[in-house]
Amino acid sequence: MEQEKFRRLLSDVKKWIVQTLAEHDAQKQPVAAANFAKLERFYPAGLLQRVQRVIVDRCPVPPLANTGTPQLSDIENWDLKGIPWENTIFIRRDLAGWDAVHFHELLHIVQWEYLGTDDYLTAWAIGTITRGYRDNPLEEMAFRHQSRFETTDTPYDVIREVTAEIANWPYSNFDIRRIT
Ligand SMILES: [Zn+2]
Repeated sequence: MEQEKFRRLLSDVKKWIVQTLAEHDAQKQPVAAANFAKLERFYPAGLLQRVQRVIVDRCPVPPLANTGTPQLSDIENWDLKGIPWENTIFIRRDLAGWDAVHFHELLHIVQWEYLGTDDYLTAWAIGTITRGYRDNPLEEMAFRHQSRFETTDTPYDVIREVTAEIANWPYSNFDIRRIT
């Protein structure tokens, strides 16, 4: 994919996000409204109030079938447990009561807010193309913290740890020349 094509793709995905969030406006509720006791000990109340949740039968993904990049096109076939888009997390209906999937998606929101939309989406795309979904740096971090959340009862400062990790990332995580 040429750099110009990647920039166009990024801009298309951003338009798709705006549209998708607008389409689900009526279903949005603050995560705080779900009253997950353990989540409230790991994330600040302000974040749980600010981030919106939408329960869906299938998590919305952008139309990437025609990108010519198999690792991205394939996303449309994944049955995702949850997905973050900007300030909203989408959660699969059968998992609406599972705090760990909420923890995971909220962690992506923390990454997203720290990086901004362009850098988040760019790092996600580069990571997925070069290392695969599960090992892309944003997912690796989210799964690692999720498993910590699931195995400990002792809260820690998730936001501080996540932002400190990203602050130490190499520039290559955002270098679109790696996929062009
Ligand atoms: Zn994830």
